[in-house]
Amino acid sequence: MSISENILAVRQKIAEAAARVNRDPAGIKLVAVTKTVEPEAMQDALTAGIQDFGENRVQELVRKQPYFNDWVTWHLIGHLQTNKVKQVIGRASLVHSLDRLNLARELSGAAQPTGLVIPVLLQVNISREDTKYGLAPEEVMDFVAEIASYPGLSIQGLMTMAPLAPDPEETRPVFRGLAEMAQRVKVRFPSLEIRWLSMGMSNDYEVAVEEGANLVRIGSGIFGPRN
Ligand SMILES: *Cc1c(COP(=O)(O)O)cnc(C)c1O
Repeated sequence: MSISENILAVRQKIAEAAARVNRDPAGIKLVAVTKTVEPEAMQDALTAGIQDFGENRVQELVRKQPYFNDWVTWHLIGHLQTNKVKQVIGRASLVHSLDRLNLARELSGAAQPTGLVIPVLLQVNISREDTKYGLAPEEVMDFVAEIASYPGLSIQGLMTMAPLAPDPEETRPVFRGLAEMAQRVKVRFPSLEIRWLSMGMSNDYEVAVEEGANLVRIGSGIFGPRN
């Protein structure tokens, strides 16, 4: 299938999953994950109505951004090293992978002189896999309390990655866990605008949407398998 056909199919499945739980699919943002994808194929995705690109490496984002207009929204979804922070400011509209205090400090410090405020999501390792980045669930409240006052940062939600499972149904408790955690953060920190639940990838986004995802990150489901 072509990129545009894939996008149509993904949108259709998002709409069906949303309908199963009485959600309005219009509130669900599809981020096309473009790691290893070259600008030509990315352009096809834009033509098919995509407005958001997700990159997991800063260098790749910096390299590809000049090919596109300002109206494309860029998401940094991968692990962010502190020495790359300066390059993210003003380039990524949303950082999905804030997972440690020193990164929060660096982002805040780099944002301040520019006058920009960096929207961030906290990455939470709900499944507690050793191989995954993210805050442990029990660390989240203290982390939010600590960084909520950092200038130049705006905490806007949570992100997680589910374990790769042969049956996507197995990932449901992970997504439910992140949604519940977001609810608790909202109650405890009512002044924050917690609006994004970034969860769901090509294998499991339908379950994620059923559990409340409103940012889904789809790569291979749109562009085909990566080598
Ligand atoms: C690669 C990646 C995705 C997309 O994965 P697919 O399985 O290709 O849809 C989503 N989120 C993150 C953080 C990624 O690195």
